[in-house]
Amino acid sequence: MYNTMLNLILFGPPGSGKGTQAQKLAEKYELLHISTGDLFRHELGNNTPLGQEARRYMDQGKLVPDEITIGMLRNKIEAHPQVKGYIFDGFPRTIPQAEALDKLLAERGQSITALIAIDVPDEEIIQRILLRGKESGRSDDQDEKIIRQRIATYREQTLPVYNYYENQNKAYTINGLGLVEEISQGLFQVIDELSPC
Ligand code: AMP
Repeated sequence: MYNTMLNLILFGPPGSGKGTQAQKLAEKYELLHISTGDLFRHELGNNTPLGQEARRYMDQGKLVPDEITIGMLRNKIEAHPQVKGYIFDGFPRTIPQAEALDKLLAERGQSITALIAIDVPDEEIIQRILLRGKESGRSDDQDEKIIRQRIATYREQTLPVYNYYENQNKAYTINGLGLVEEISQGLFQVIDELSPC
């Protein structure tokens, strides 16, 4: 078991199933699920200034600037001081975000326990996102051009975050093809084998 908090990053391209799996992990390990995409969509739905600002980037498949994203994440963490741990979904997406997250946790005497990447090939991702867009009506999930831009953004700005945590010996990868339940099992296995921190 864990003496301190279990702080996980669920990593992977858009459409790799991070949101679905993060919910399952949050339930099983009693963690607070923080999805920056969901937080932005919530702001957008309420038409707040933050939501309006974020929309300009989300609609183009680009990242919302670090300063805005990190500020929003800090607020969320500060609003929930009494938790067993966090599962970060869709954050960090840049090296400055990863550095800010490490600093934020260190200030609280904590650290990231592990980053787990869900590996799914590009073509599968595009099909999955288009299907999700049909079901959810999410505008950035309905236009193949925006989806390809999000994948390019992921490659250029987000993939280096994997190496950042690999250098800390905290990065793991699981196969993201298969049934939702099979992928969950793969995640549980990695987490249950982590040495207690
Ligand atoms: P997601 O639901 O995680 O795919 O996020 C949807 C969109 O929200 C992304 O395409 C970005 O425009 C924005 N977004 C979500 N998380 C972040 C982040 N950590 N940094 C910058 N932009 C983000």
